[in-house]
Amino acid sequence: MDDIFGRQQAILIADVQVNGKNADIFVRDDGTIGAIGEGVRKQHTGEADIIIDGNGAIALPGLVNTHTHAAMSLLRGYADDMILQDWLSQKIWPLEAHLTPPDVYWGTKLACLEMIRTGTTAFNDMYFMMEEAARAVGEAGIRAVLSYGFIDLFDAGKREAECRATENLVRHIRSLDNPRITAAAGPHAPYTVSPDGLKWCAEFAREEKIGIHIHLSETEKEVNDCIAQHGKRPAVLLDECGILTPRTVAAHCCWLDEAECTLLGKRGVSASHNPTSNMKLATNRAMPWHWLKDAGANVCLGTDGCASNNNLDMFEEAKTAAILQKFFWNNPTLLPAQEALAMATANGARGLGLATGRLLPGTPADIILVAVHEACNTPLHNAMSNIVYSCNGGAVETTICDGRVLMLNREVPGEKEILEGASAAAADLVRRAQSS
Ligand SMILES: [Zn+2]
Repeated sequence: MDDIFGRQQAILIADVQVNGKNADIFVRDDGTIGAIGEGVRKQHTGEADIIIDGNGAIALPGLVNTHTHAAMSLLRGYADDMILQDWLSQKIWPLEAHLTPPDVYWGTKLACLEMIRTGTTAFNDMYFMMEEAARAVGEAGIRAVLSYGFIDLFDAGKREAECRATENLVRHIRSLDNPRITAAAGPHAPYTVSPDGLKWCAEFAREEKIGIHIHLSETEKEVNDCIAQHGKRPAVLLDECGILTPRTVAAHCCWLDEAECTLLGKRGVSASHNPTSNMKLATNRAMPWHWLKDAGANVCLGTDGCASNNNLDMFEEAKTAAILQKFFWNNPTLLPAQEALAMATANGARGLGLATGRLLPGTPADIILVAVHEACNTPLHNAMSNIVYSCNGGAVETTICDGRVLMLNREVPGEKEILEGASAAAADLVRRAQSS
């Protein structure tokens, strides 16, 4: 059994559904999809090192979570039902002040485990001590774009330190030489980073040919503060600093006006919709998905950190996005199931510059199998509808990333040790914070 997990080998996935048709999938031992379709089993059985019986499961591309703070999984359930500013200043920041590198390691390990269990094979992460996040991602076997959360608070001295921290992370990630892990610049937000800091991040990302990960217009207050401080709306400020590019993922985007949506579309920006976090923290406005889509922006999906969600289940996030858009904009035709699934797959992959997100021969084998013999998939009038509106991540039974089996029939090797390590780290973190 042990030799099934964690390494690239030729895999035949027999008897699955791909885009509503019965099919088999052959994965080459270089981690790419070799063939998809009916009869693939006959051609490739002899070449396969292992055969996975799909038992009629729905095969989907691995899901892509475009906005997370993975290590915050240690803060899951630590503080809920509070006003955003109180929640941050009284609960989250005091705890984060005690975070150590091992905490980031265990928190990211736990997050990766949850993502594997719920069908996510790539994520876009912004946090601190990201060398430890990279170690956890490397061990987990999934993909990640990792950025250091650059916060200069308009202080020139602090800005220099943040520039060095950003450079160091990029250098470290390059030294790992792991094709699944890449770096991005992570200017936290227009209200925590000076225009000089933003410009530095934009220029650095352009030179290094890496992505940019930023928070944009989550709350009405930050938009009003930006206008008061800079005399312009946040997206306009970011554009003047060079931040809006086709390599940029902007999270939240709740309070963009129509002109800002047009600007994001023109610049080819990816906008990450984080509906659960927005509803839980009561941002009081849903991302204008229809304006962004009509403007040509790449709209994708993210869970945000586990402290404000409180899980990393992208199936739940797709449903929440679809129903929040309908509810808030008072139009039941907005964000249909197919579009919600595209946000969680192809659009997310595009946002992170990955060749995944679609099941196509020649692309990296990031594949998940969703069980059909489950209450949530019975009856199966329309697989797309069930996937978005009826299933959650618990229906995922097998997860493959880069041609490596990471979960098979709901078994993830080493799960018990990860749960124990993360629980111990979380308990110790709270103890340290409370005794200080
Ligand atoms: Zn965030």
